[in-house]
Amino acid sequence: MQIAADRRAVTVAVARAAGQPFTIEPAYIRAPRSDEVLVKVVATGMCHTDLIARDQYYPVPLPAVLGHEGAGVVEALGPGVKNLKVGDHVVLTYGACGHCDPCASGHETYCTNFYAHNFGGTGPDGDIALQSPDGKPLHDHFFTQSSFSTYALARERNAIKVPAEAPLALLGPLGCGIQTGAGAVINSLKVRAGSSFVVYGAGAVGLSAVMAARVVGATTIIAVDVLPSRLELANELGATHTINSREAGVIEAVREITGGGADFALESTGRPEVLEAGIEALGGLGTLGVVGAPKLGTTAGFDVNNLILGGRSIRGIVEGDSVPQVFIPQLVELYQQGRFPFDRLVKFYPFEQINQAAEDSTKGTTLKPILRIEES
Ligand code: NAD
Repeated sequence: MQIAADRRAVTVAVARAAGQPFTIEPAYIRAPRSDEVLVKVVATGMCHTDLIARDQYYPVPLPAVLGHEGAGVVEALGPGVKNLKVGDHVVLTYGACGHCDPCASGHETYCTNFYAHNFGGTGPDGDIALQSPDGKPLHDHFFTQSSFSTYALARERNAIKVPAEAPLALLGPLGCGIQTGAGAVINSLKVRAGSSFVVYGAGAVGLSAVMAARVVGATTIIAVDVLPSRLELANELGATHTINSREAGVIEAVREITGGGADFALESTGRPEVLEAGIEALGGLGTLGVVGAPKLGTTAGFDVNNLILGGRSIRGIVEGDSVPQVFIPQLVELYQQGRFPFDRLVKFYPFEQINQAAEDSTKGTTLKPILRIEES
C-alpha cells in the first residue's frame, strides 16, 4: 500500500498485545487538520494508565500507540489553530470534546465524551492518523496525543503553552499524573490550610498530592504506602507522618494521628480494600477523593451509616479537575519557585528503553519514568 505524500516518517512504540512489551517501529503520521497541531515530541512521561491500557484493563483497541504525558515543540499547525504558533513549547494533556454540558460549564475532565477522546483508539469520528509502513492503521489518539512517538498530533485545546525557559523535557507528566495528584488537592478537595490530609499510595500521583497539600498549608499530611523508600521521599516532600500499611493498622493509625479521623483523603492505589479503609478513617464531614483506577467493573463496600452519620463524602476525580490552560502554567510557576519540586519523582530513560521504564515503574523502583525522545 502506498504512503500518501503528506505523511511524515515517525518512530513509535507500539502496544501490540496485552501484557506484551512495547515494540519500537517505524510509522507514518498524517499532517494536522482543522484545530490540530503536530508536535515534535521531546519527552513523554509514562503513567500507570499507559500500562493498564497496554494490559487491557481499559480495552483500548490494539495495536495502539499509547503515551499521554508528552512535551514538545509545535512543528506544524492545522488551518483552524488560533492561539499557538510554530516553535511554541507545549505540554500535552487529556482530550475533551469542548461542547457537551460538563465541557461548556468548565468541567472538561468530566466530558461526556471523555472515553472516546482519550481511550477510543481513534479520533471521535473514527479517524486514525498513524499507519505502519505496510499501510495498516495503528490505533492512536490516546489522550488525543499518542505521544510514545517522535511526533504527535494533538488539538489546540490539549496542547498547553509553557514558558520557553522552563525545562521542557521534565514537564510532560504535568499533563496527567502530576496534575491529577496536585489538582485533586487544590481543585477538587480544596484542602484547607490547617487541615489534615491523608494520601493512600505514595506514587507519582500521591506524592504530587503531598507536595500540593504542603503548598496549600495542610498541617497534618500523612502518606500511606507499602514501600519504605516512597515513604521516606514523602517525608522529604512535606509529609508530616508516614504509615507503612504492611506494618500498622491504617485506620487506627490515621485516627490516632489526626485525633479522630482525616479532614481530607485521596485514594491513589487503585485497590478497593484501601479505598474501604480510607472511608473508615475519615473524620466527621471528611471527604475522600478517588483517583486510583482498578479494572473496569471493580466494586468496593462501605458502612452506609458511617457515611451518613458523620456527613462524610466520597468523590471520584479525573485529572484533578484541572483546567489545563490555567493549572499547568501554575504548576510550572510553583516548580520554578522551588515550592513544587516534582523533579524529585522523575527518572529519564532513552525512548528505546521504554520496556525497562515500564518494568521499573511496575516494580516500584522508578516513580515517574520520562522517555527522552530523539528523532531517528
Ligand atoms: P503508582 O503505581 O506510582 O502509585 C501507586 C502507589 O500505591 C505505589 O507507591 C504503591 O506502592 C502503593 N500501594 C500499592 N498497594 C498499596 C497498599 N495496599 N497500601 C498502600 N499503598 C499501596 O501509580 P501512580 O502513577 O501514582 O498512579 C496512581 C493511580 O492513579 C493509578 O491507578 C493510575 O492509573 C491512577 N490515575 C488516575 C488518574 C485520574 O484522573 N483519576 C490520573 C492519573 C493516574
